[in-house]
Amino acid sequence: MNIKLYELREDEKPALAEVMARVGAGGARMASDARMAGDAQVAGGAPVGGGAAPQAGDALKRGAAPQACAAPSDITIDAVPDELGIENVASAQGFDAVVISGRSAMTAEVLDRLAELGVKYLATRTVGVDHIDVAHAHELGLRVCNTGYPPEGVAEFAVMLMLIVLRRYKPSLWRQQVNDYSLGGLEGRELGRLTVGIVGTGRIGQQVARILGGFGSKVLGYDPCPSDAARAAGIEYVPLEELYRRSDVVTLHVPLTEENRGMVDAEAINQMRDGVVLVNVSRGELIDVAAVTSAIEFEKIGALAMDVFADEVGIYHESRVNDIIRNRDMAYLRQFPNVVLTPHMAFYTDTNVNSMVEQGVRGVIAMAEGPGSWASEV
Ligand code: NAD
Repeated sequence: MNIKLYELREDEKPALAEVMARVGAGGARMASDARMAGDAQVAGGAPVGGGAAPQAGDALKRGAAPQACAAPSDITIDAVPDELGIENVASAQGFDAVVISGRSAMTAEVLDRLAELGVKYLATRTVGVDHIDVAHAHELGLRVCNTGYPPEGVAEFAVMLMLIVLRRYKPSLWRQQVNDYSLGGLEGRELGRLTVGIVGTGRIGQQVARILGGFGSKVLGYDPCPSDAARAAGIEYVPLEELYRRSDVVTLHVPLTEENRGMVDAEAINQMRDGVVLVNVSRGELIDVAAVTSAIEFEKIGALAMDVFADEVGIYHESRVNDIIRNRDMAYLRQFPNVVLTPHMAFYTDTNVNSMVEQGVRGVIAMAEGPGSWASEV
């Protein structure tokens, strides 16, 4: 099986070398491009073998770890740093499977070309699949899977954002730069005394609830598919309107779908408490940015913390220090003392990087072995 892996970052190389050793049993190869040549661990084109033996549950940590991943020994993986798009889709020629991350937009046009080139399997090393036209892939017979790395890292980050804005860390940090150690305006609120509303009580939402349980917060939840696991995590389900009305903090943990796009609009914000803290580590497009900006200006929203932003691709995860950035909404929101923006880094932990690479590669191999052999096929 020939796999082409796109968007390879430097920090993913050790994880990739390890997973190649695991799945290939010595037969895996990485045909790397010039930018990877010279890397001691994954030297260009050299067979990679003798790596760490697979350990059950190790980086995978999924419910259904695929035993079926005793891979054929003739796996090759060609890994490149480039994003996959229409302009370079021909680079997938000769590969059975492609593994991408969140920056490669898999539009219908790209998917058509991939199918024409004979690609049969597509894995994304992300949880979200909003950058893939999954319905069109299915029409083409192209099988798609995502990853389900452990939710702890993202959940911890969401709770960290709550604390940062509740304790006014951003203006405090600003002041320290100019030797201003005054307290005026920095009085905070305690998370354990607040009610937090979790919108979307899946893997990450539930983990947020577990963490908040330690703080002693009251935790409400809304999800069209309520679960006993979420209740066991301490979530009390209420209708969405009630969640908005009762919550001091509202945190979003839902996927971006056409239905959910702009779900936090003026109407939703009006239902929230005055001074509400809004946290979004899911996708920028879940909020109506004009409505949220207006609610910050008129102090209806007391604080906003977002790890994601609409049209972040090409900005987040890049150094743009010398560039003119065309995202007015982001630039305007960023200047408020009660708005904290982070560059889509909630996922970015050592555990998750290993897991994303491993699951991406194992996902396409498992899909090739038959239907239902990979838990997160979408
Ligand atoms: P999940 O599939 O386990 O849970 C999502 C939940 O949202 C499901 O229970 C679903 O029923 C619910 N849902 C869908 N639409 C809803 C709506 N309108 N209202 C309320 N609930 C709704 O997913 P997860 O692993 O918890 O991840 C959630 C999202 O987090 C991902 O889709 C991704 O976009 C985002 N994410 C961001 C980062 C990051 O680095 N910032 C990392 C991982 C995931």
